[in-house]
Amino acid sequence: MNIGQEVLNTLKDEITELEYNRYIRHLTYDAKKSTATQALFYAPNALVVNWIKNKYTDKIAHIFEVKTGSKVSVQITLKNAVEKRKSKKTAPEVKQTSSLLNPSHSFENFMVGGSNQFAFAAVKSASENPGKVYNPLFIYGGVGLGKTHLMQAAGNVLQNEGKVVIYTTVEQFLNDFIRHVRNKTMERFQEKYRKCDVLLIDDIQFLSNKEGIQEEFFHTFEALKGAGKQIILTADKHPKKIGGLEARLQSRFEWGLVADIQPPELETKIAIIKKKCEINKVKLSDDIINYIATVIDSNVREIEGILSKLHAYSQLMHVDIDLEFTKNVLKDQMHENRENLTMDKITEIVAKDLNIKPSEIRSKGRSKNIVYARRISIYICRELTQHTMPQLAQYFGMKDHTAISHTIKKINDLIKDDEDFRVKIEELTNKITASS
Ligand code: ADP
Ligand code: MG
Repeated sequence: MNIGQEVLNTLKDEITELEYNRYIRHLTYDAKKSTATQALFYAPNALVVNWIKNKYTDKIAHIFEVKTGSKVSVQITLKNAVEKRKSKKTAPEVKQTSSLLNPSHSFENFMVGGSNQFAFAAVKSASENPGKVYNPLFIYGGVGLGKTHLMQAAGNVLQNEGKVVIYTTVEQFLNDFIRHVRNKTMERFQEKYRKCDVLLIDDIQFLSNKEGIQEEFFHTFEALKGAGKQIILTADKHPKKIGGLEARLQSRFEWGLVADIQPPELETKIAIIKKKCEINKVKLSDDIINYIATVIDSNVREIEGILSKLHAYSQLMHVDIDLEFTKNVLKDQMHENRENLTMDKITEIVAKDLNIKPSEIRSKGRSKNIVYARRISIYICRELTQHTMPQLAQYFGMKDHTAISHTIKKINDLIKDDEDFRVKIEELTNKITASS
């Protein structure tokens, strides 16, 4: 079964039978034209296209992400007569073995720099000697830094050697578990996960405070580890910092090797953009690549979105991609993402999270927790809004723009030096962007 069909089957469990039969059942997935970042479905008529676009694309995209670990944009289009004729002629689809690994997540496509060379070397060597050198291998780091990519690169290598590789996110593992409990088929669940050669579990931090699944995962882990099977795990933070984990699990996560990934340096970002251009067949000059690399702060995931947008716009408007054009598209993209985000909103969310009043953040108060909250708010406002430094200074009651730039530098230094702080900022930023 292809991934598209698998996603629709999962969706089936989440909606009513009527909804499924009326709309979703008619969708067909185009495995050929879909890519790692874009899933293409056809619907038979415009009504179904519109209805699904409005009601289901977010859900479908979410299920894709849960299953593959990658953000996917979902396109629903009308299946026209040509497509119909063509599809009749195409050979029956080759049966896929459970793999949800993205084939473009390979070691060759992974650009190595100081920020990720340790993790890269660790994953590479685990893939060369599975179950022998680092078991488990635990990779952690911020969002969009290549954890899923790396872990799947090992999965792809081992799968090509004929090993049974399971890649799953915690959410997917949990859903699978619940389904088997409900159907009273736990033996099948256990067999599936305990009989594989390689188990890749993504975003393990989501095990936090989920006792039932931790217990099950513990036994899976013991069985695999005991049998010398390779386990690779990723998380957004070090196992010690995850919290809400049984002590025995936490200690096992540290048994093998724990490797971190840091945000890429400029040169690595440039190399990644060049690689993505090559893969997506987008031609960009060096000055544009440099520009994008400096504008994108760390999350590599944004790069792909930007490239496809540049490509789409230039085709649509019949213009070449030059620097001016790139600047406009980027401005547009950032603006579009964050249009509803105001400084009030950001301050409010930070204040709530840190248990103080928004008015205190904007006051002249000098107590430690107020200053802390104010600095974080300033930093996030700078990151997520279009406001200038003088505007920030005015809003937060600071003397002038130099005071703001000092604050931002302080926060940047802290993010570099303090893992807990970085995670805190990331969590808050996610909370804020999710609210807009
Ligand atoms: P994470 O799992 O850490 O959130 P992903 O592995 O999903 O991040 O990476 C996000 C995107 O960035 C993917 O498209 C991935 O291919 C790309 N990426 C991240 N780091 C690199 C790298 N060093 N070289 C090439 N691509 C990268
Ligand atoms: Mg990931």
